[in-house]
Amino acid sequence: ARRGDFAYLDGLNPEQRRAVEALEGPVLVLAGAGTGKTRVLTTRIAHILATGRARAHEILAVTFTNKAAREMKERVAALVGPVAEGMPWLGTFHAISTKILRRHAELVGLQSTFTILDTDDQIRLLKQVLQAANIDEKRWPARSLSYQIDAWKNRGLDPAHVPPGEAAAFANGRGADLYAHYQERLKTLNAADFGDLLLESLRLLRDNPDVLRLYQDRFRYMLVDEYQDTNSVQYLWLRLLAQGRHNVCCVGDDDQSIYGWRGADVDNILRFETDFPGATIIRLERNYRSTGHILGTAARLIAHNDGRLGKTLFTDDAPGLKPAVTGVWDSEEEARSIGEEIEQLQRQGEGLDEIAILVRASFQMREFEERFITLGLPYRVIGGPRFYERAEIRDALAYLRCVAQPADDLAFERIFNVPKRGLGDATLQLLYDAARRERIPLMQMAAIMVETEELKPKQRQTLRSLLEDFNRWRSLIEAKPQGELAEMILEESGYTDMWQKDRTAEAAGRLENLKELVRSMEEFPDLGSFLEHISLVMDAENQAGGPRVSIMTLHAAKGLEFETVFLPGWEEGLFPHQRSLDESGRAGLEEERRLAYVGITRAKRRLHLYFATNRRIHGLWQTTIPSRFLDELPAENVEVREAASGTAYGGYAQSRFANMDSYGSSYSTPGWQRAQRHQESKQRGSSGQTGGGQEAFKQKNARRGPLQIEGELVAK
Ligand code: ATP
Ligand code: MG
Repeated sequence: ARRGDFAYLDGLNPEQRRAVEALEGPVLVLAGAGTGKTRVLTTRIAHILATGRARAHEILAVTFTNKAAREMKERVAALVGPVAEGMPWLGTFHAISTKILRRHAELVGLQSTFTILDTDDQIRLLKQVLQAANIDEKRWPARSLSYQIDAWKNRGLDPAHVPPGEAAAFANGRGADLYAHYQERLKTLNAADFGDLLLESLRLLRDNPDVLRLYQDRFRYMLVDEYQDTNSVQYLWLRLLAQGRHNVCCVGDDDQSIYGWRGADVDNILRFETDFPGATIIRLERNYRSTGHILGTAARLIAHNDGRLGKTLFTDDAPGLKPAVTGVWDSEEEARSIGEEIEQLQRQGEGLDEIAILVRASFQMREFEERFITLGLPYRVIGGPRFYERAEIRDALAYLRCVAQPADDLAFERIFNVPKRGLGDATLQLLYDAARRERIPLMQMAAIMVETEELKPKQRQTLRSLLEDFNRWRSLIEAKPQGELAEMILEESGYTDMWQKDRTAEAAGRLENLKELVRSMEEFPDLGSFLEHISLVMDAENQAGGPRVSIMTLHAAKGLEFETVFLPGWEEGLFPHQRSLDESGRAGLEEERRLAYVGITRAKRRLHLYFATNRRIHGLWQTTIPSRFLDELPAENVEVREAASGTAYGGYAQSRFANMDSYGSSYSTPGWQRAQRHQESKQRGSSGQTGGGQEAFKQKNARRGPLQIEGELVAK
């Protein structure tokens, strides 16, 4: 009977359907790439709405990127039509916790208009904190402190709960104190850094039972995508909210856990059953995304990892084209070769939107960007160091922040003497000291100071007119569209003029970027929501329309899929990345391998892997060795191509691959790999089956015992 009523259920396989229909109680969907986990989540939302179990705003859905949230919104609308009563709370952990935090900001000592600091502001603020504490910044750089504080925040630790041993690691035991000072400063500035969005939101819920109750009651259904990459603070936040209704559905894949370096903890998957007793665990095994050879390649590669829960993956698709491995001379040839491939695909009628280049490190992007500009091939860069991080954009945003938020000291400092207006460091210091003494924002202090004799007449005049400008601009917020206002501010402040007079090569590009910024603002209802958006966009995409090749890091590619995927730079040191090997050894290597698995499984039909025998890393040319991951690919699934320039390394790769057989030893395989393969082949069952499936999962889980993580200290 159901089938007729709920057409969107039709396309699902029985397990997916079970995952969609198991609405009551905790559900964990643990499944490999491309098995429809995200599709299950989207359909679940549609099903909840269509069956009238909850209204849109009673649903909380967490995605890993803002882009994924947008897509999910569109898909839900496509399944059930436009949703009448508001939208679900659908977004990243950060976006959702920010929304909650703004509503109750005063309960954690903030105002609802609080600013969200970016890394740059954070570092600047930490420098001040270090200075105030008389700590030598050369010995104890602000950057390492920021790294440490982020790590604490990711674990849900506020200053009072930092374990003494860890606090000792910075500036002879002053780490936790500095952390506390920094938090105080943030409060005075009415600001939160990225880590605070979750930590403060968690504190809010924990310390205010009535607020907690409110949200526990409201969120009848909670859904989480990419669950394997939640960190402790996110996990605690989620668990707290889910304890109301217990209707929480998490989907994830332990093999795709790639944010360990940022505090993500795959053990959260294992804790699920302990924390949510009676949870339904559903496995999806059919991959709908990739052809047989691609899937086989991915499955065999990831089988080299030890710490796995074990999963079966199969596809009913044809084997398709074999993934191609190509050796090239250097990154320039790599870019040229990929450019040619893409042009050929284009001639065959393949859409550029269906093509992606996934790099291990963002520096690899430049070569492709340059090549594509030469070829006139449209592309977009997703994620990574991006548009909003460019200096001219940050300056422009600082002006806007000062207008929208007079208490934003960091923004005011940034543009205080930009463009140069004779307000030097000494003036700023004077102002800064006075503001600190009075515990008021800089701009407020400035307004007082221009009425006194403390500043020299010239500076006083300049500062007064700057403040008048800000007041005037501020008075126009309601009256003027924000794009026009921004343009006006940049003109009248002399900022645009500064770059017009600039003779350096980049000036023209900067002016174009500023234009682009103004243009992009028009898409928002008002200045406030634009600034909010800026603070949250982690995946800023190129706005321009039309199909484009996507360039992004492997980390940013999670959850996405493309007909054709290029994976350049498979060389030792770059991929696996030397840093992860140095810092985390075997665990680091496994995370790199999962990243490779994520990369491969983004491809639907065509996959190209590349290695260059020479690469310039940080300005130095180095001769490279093909990635060990290439060695781990199954010979029967991949095709080794002779490089265009036809030099010896092509033959070298050929011989390596020729020596490979399924899990047998080959003389080119290092001993430790052989031993590992041997062990794995003992465990392995039939095609693609690894580990012991459900049983292994249960056993690991049983061994784990009750939940114990540091974040718990705060939970008390
Ligand atoms: P990842 O682990 O990479 O995030 P996933 O498990 O979330 O993958 P989806 O992105 O939901 O997988 O699905 C992969 C592809 O398979 C999508 O194109 C989706 O539309 C398609 N798909 C999923 N289930 C089905 C189905 N039952 N019938 C047809 N296509 C399906
Ligand atoms: Mg997904």
